Amino acid sequence: MSDLVVLGGVESGSSDGSPALAHDRIDLMGMSLDELGDFAEQVLSERRFRGKQLFKWIYKRRVTDFDAMTDIAKATRAQLKEVAHISRMEVRAAQRSRDGTIKFLWGLHDGLQVESVLIPEDTRLTLCISTQVGCPLDCDFCVTGKGGYTRNLSKAEILGQVIQAQEHSPDRDLSNIVLMGMGEPLLNLDNVVDAMETAQVSDGLDLSHRRITLSTVGLIPQMAELGKRSRINLAISLHGTTEEQRTALMPINRKYPLADLVEALKAYPLRQKKLITIEYILIRGVNDTVADAKRLVRLLRKVPAKVNLIPYNKNPFTQYERPDNPTIVAFQEVLMGAGLHTVTRLNRGGDIDAACGQLGGYKQQRPGKRRSASPKAEQGR
Ligand code: SF4
Repeated sequence: MSDLVVLGGVESGSSDGSPALAHDRIDLMGMSLDELGDFAEQVLSERRFRGKQLFKWIYKRRVTDFDAMTDIAKATRAQLKEVAHISRMEVRAAQRSRDGTIKFLWGLHDGLQVESVLIPEDTRLTLCISTQVGCPLDCDFCVTGKGGYTRNLSKAEILGQVIQAQEHSPDRDLSNIVLMGMGEPLLNLDNVVDAMETAQVSDGLDLSHRRITLSTVGLIPQMAELGKRSRINLAISLHGTTEEQRTALMPINRKYPLADLVEALKAYPLRQKKLITIEYILIRGVNDTVADAKRLVRLLRKVPAKVNLIPYNKNPFTQYERPDNPTIVAFQEVLMGAGLHTVTRLNRGGDIDAACGQLGGYKQQRPGKRRSASPKAEQGR
């Protein structure tokens, strides 16, 4: 059972609590430094420097009320209120796990909803964010996929998760972002790359590319594009060691087979001695044998990789089970014995269905029909 704590409550849909009017004004949330500079010049008829000031208020100080932006002239603040707003999502639920993990359910402007998970650890504070409402890829172990796909998240919605989750940890700054929530980030490549570039700007969230990790099933062309456009870390959801096994778990393997994916990983442009993280969910009787571990070692022989083993988190929506501990240990020992850096990931937030493989959102309601938050475990990446 979880210790359910609803934090924050309902928040307004815009900076001044007037969501209906907000639609007529330009949303500054999600804009890059350049875009805010353009906005200052073209809409406010001010110098680009105004855009930089706005950038700092939005991303560094997390202020959405123009009246509180005291280094901006009063007349300009009045103009800003006329032409712009800074959108916020509604906090429909924030559940705190016994281990301190917090799972958020965000209400979007069109009535849809997504989740993020804030994970405190000794040396870091990580936020796992979503990039799509639902997911079209239908991995067999994942309930998000089974619920289908609705739409991509905007830059404002991607960065909004970061800004608003940080508000729930006033004494500690976010240190890491992982794009492992609902959706396949590479199917929303432009918004994801732009949002994560904005997250790295020193006048804003100031997160190093070393502290941002994108997890993908391995869409080979988009992966190559990511490698050209961004320095953030890459993680691959592998989960199988033969074509047959991986296709059964992840239908995308038909389009981008394991053999091709491994070749693409060998060619991936890694900078500054980075490693690719290989995510491997261990599922009892499916992919958890010593033979699987040995095949994984062979597959990764020439890939600069480290491995995260994730014992499956049982949920009511799939038939899969977690292996027992000796099986997990035996699997890990094969990898480590072969010199592969391997970590078995602890289940954080398991009591609130926020552990890896349990994130994925709630059944989507139709836009316009608001329902009360009633958390329902679904599988995500
Ligand atoms: S595991 Fe990830 S890619 Fe697969 S269906 Fe779930 S959200 Fe989509």
